[in-house]
Amino acid sequence: MLASSCPGWICYAEKTHGYVLPHISVVKSPQQVMGSIVKEYLAGKWSVKPNQIYHVCVMPCYDKKLEASRPDFYDEAYATRDVDCVITTGEIDKMLEQQGTDLRTLPEDELDSVFTKMTFDPALSSPVLLGTPGTGAGGSLEFILAYAARELLSLPNLRTNLPSDVPGPYPGLTVRTVRNADFREYTLEVPGAAPLRFAAAYGFRNIQNLVRKIKQGKCTYDYVEVMACPGGCVNGGGQIKQPDGEEVMSAKDWVVRVEQVYRSVEGVSPEESEIVRKLYGDEWLGGPDSPKARRMLRTQYHAITQNLQNPLGCGHDLCGIWANEADPLPTSVERRDLDWEILNGNN
Ligand code: SF4
Repeated sequence: MLASSCPGWICYAEKTHGYVLPHISVVKSPQQVMGSIVKEYLAGKWSVKPNQIYHVCVMPCYDKKLEASRPDFYDEAYATRDVDCVITTGEIDKMLEQQGTDLRTLPEDELDSVFTKMTFDPALSSPVLLGTPGTGAGGSLEFILAYAARELLSLPNLRTNLPSDVPGPYPGLTVRTVRNADFREYTLEVPGAAPLRFAAAYGFRNIQNLVRKIKQGKCTYDYVEVMACPGGCVNGGGQIKQPDGEEVMSAKDWVVRVEQVYRSVEGVSPEESEIVRKLYGDEWLGGPDSPKARRMLRTQYHAITQNLQNPLGCGHDLCGIWANEADPLPTSVERRDLDWEILNGNN
């Protein structure tokens, strides 16, 4: 099974490697799952129609705009999209700059509690934001491996949030970097059972190698987390860059710093989240594999030959520039590797 959360990868696969589409997970990306939650669950809870909610996502990624504009995520009955507008973190930063707003000078406010994972910190006497454990791509590989270990091999509480090339808390778990830092293998071996073989493949070159192996019938992994950007979403094309003329660290160190900030928020597994439990239960879906869960959380893929046009745009200059730019894949995917090489001084 191949991961489905990266629209850069999905567009590339649909356009150039139709034979891999049956292997891609049919689970919607996190952005589009949130689209279903907002336009179906929240609309019902607030007793409004889906088209009375304008849903904006802030993402590290321009390809998320393309994803939101897919016909699969358009509700004809209400003439509305699950996600109405996508703005990148870099665009938000530019908007604030144009307004003369500096977040560091604004007073702290209460955390919005609708879907925010948080805990109460007695020392601060206030709620504290919680994140998701795992890699800079969001931790789905770690979660699925831990789930598979528990369900298939009866190994509870597997933690894989480890540095590369060290044995895991179970003697049978090995995490290995292969060829480059953006290709890692996770192998879990238990006596008497078939091993679980997972991999993380980030960046265009690693994706190319992976699809070649699949085509040749030589891919032996059970699950691969495929992400278009080298380094994952922390290095997404829409992320905030260092301010011009104020370079205090190398571009590569800047990405490392972003990853450190991302990891500074304590992570909790989705299964430990009260909100997730409620949504899967009677509050919304009526069970993790119910007909409604399948309808709300799954999608489909289409082998295509032409570029998707982006009809989205929040009216902001930067969104307009992107929306009108002819930027066909796989060129934009390839460009990420070139950017990464420049970051690493290999150009
Ligand atoms: S890896 Fe890059 S293209 Fe893929 S979802 Fe993350 S930021 Fe977007």
